[in-house]
Amino acid sequence: MATVVSEPTSSKVQIKQTKMLIDNKWIDSVSGKKFETINPATGEVLANVAEADAPDVDLAVKAARKAFHSKAPWRRMSASERGKLLNRLADLIEENIEELATLESLDNGKPRHVARTADLPLVIACYRYYAGWADKIQGKTIPINGDYFCYTRHEPVGVVGQIIPWNFPLLMQAWKLGPALACGNTVVLKVAEQTPLSALRVGELLLEAGFPEGVVNILPGYGPTAGAALARHTDVDKVAFTGSTEVGHLVMKAAAESNLKRVTLELGGKSPNIVFADADMDQAIEGSHFALFFNQGQCCCAGSRVFVEGKAYDEFVQRSTERAKRRTVGDPLDRKTEQGPQVDKDQFEKVLHYVDEGRKEGAKLMCGGDRVGERGYFVAPTVFADVNDEMKIAQEEIFGPVMSIMKFQDMDELVERANKTIYGLAAAVWTRDIGKAHHIANNVRAGTVWINCFDVFDAGAPFGGFKQSGIGRELGEYGLQQYSEIKTVTVKL
Ligand code: ADP
Repeated sequence: MATVVSEPTSSKVQIKQTKMLIDNKWIDSVSGKKFETINPATGEVLANVAEADAPDVDLAVKAARKAFHSKAPWRRMSASERGKLLNRLADLIEENIEELATLESLDNGKPRHVARTADLPLVIACYRYYAGWADKIQGKTIPINGDYFCYTRHEPVGVVGQIIPWNFPLLMQAWKLGPALACGNTVVLKVAEQTPLSALRVGELLLEAGFPEGVVNILPGYGPTAGAALARHTDVDKVAFTGSTEVGHLVMKAAAESNLKRVTLELGGKSPNIVFADADMDQAIEGSHFALFFNQGQCCCAGSRVFVEGKAYDEFVQRSTERAKRRTVGDPLDRKTEQGPQVDKDQFEKVLHYVDEGRKEGAKLMCGGDRVGERGYFVAPTVFADVNDEMKIAQEEIFGPVMSIMKFQDMDELVERANKTIYGLAAAVWTRDIGKAHHIANNVRAGTVWINCFDVFDAGAPFGGFKQSGIGRELGEYGLQQYSEIKTVTVKL
């Protein structure tokens, strides 16, 4: 049984913004509809938020298009001024860090101290990183044949639709807005229906920073309505989506069927986390625990298929089980809490459903497997041993605190097994043998490989998926390519 540190407390933060941001104005939705956003630790309603649908998407796209006009202030602004605005936004987020951390914790369920010390510093660093890029986005001169002068310009794509998930609301907003704005695009951002509040507060800070009208428009609303309308809109030049692989297919289809807008996708994963017997076992066990259980297991790159070398298997299973049992589950506002609730009832039920599947398919339940407490959506840290590759819990994305441990003996066979899913987002390897580490790094088909570490993120390091984990890369210099069009200009001399 997981340790329960304390009962969830009710919210004590002032929610300042629940409307939609279009053309720098806070407005109700065209339909006047609102939806509830809840605190998953208590099930209580935090706020009623404006519910965007297709007509609101139309208005937001119009505002973004107007802001992208060649004579509009945003387009006439110098690149360094764009960088200054992004830096100002980063400063404002930093000034309001305590409030934003509390809001993020209440709406999402993640421990407040984690939001404060992990999510928000990454958010601020991301805006500053892209602020620095704004006036360094430049083309090339190209020595073509003949008497010509040829050069390229890196221009913004135009009006960008962005759809983000609920697991890291502020960070996903930063990963999307940072590069898009550095490159000079205008944006319509559809935030996840489970977690709209922190993004709207950042909307207020965007206005305070001084972004011109229509440059960033923020719509809370549901996926099949507002999200789908954005993906299908014929006046949107690009859609950037982060979420499930299932919806990724829909977004790409909508882009194909409407106007062939550019598409980048950051989707699901079932990342192999490989532990060799020669690893520093303390580090590998704690690192693997973090790799899976961080953020209530709600990470697209979670190390959810743990492959352990035969010789170390029994020790790893036993000690990982003990560690999971010690994980503190409870009030996200309590400093001692390691794990809060799942984001909502749907996710909570989905996770428990996978636990049942694991039991039915014959995996060995070492600990957890049930809810914690009577209210809120808390799931006990769960460990399954003796999992085989074909089981649902080894193939499908659970997105919860459920670790699946598998045994391996041979490295070549291991690589085959590690690659045997539809996903390719991330992987990790724990070993003291530099040769093995690089063999895995080179042969695992994944966008990110961590060696003796996990979930190390930096605004400068690109992130994205192979196979059905996505298309394109976010972050770093590579992230800029996804928000630029290359124009070739040739001059007869
Ligand atoms: P999850 O299953 O983790 O909630 P989703 O892929 O369903 O992930 O959601 C990620 C984001 O995609 C959310 O903002 C959601 O509202 C949005 N979304 C869901 N369905 C669609 C859709 N059909 N078209 C566009 N966006 C969608």
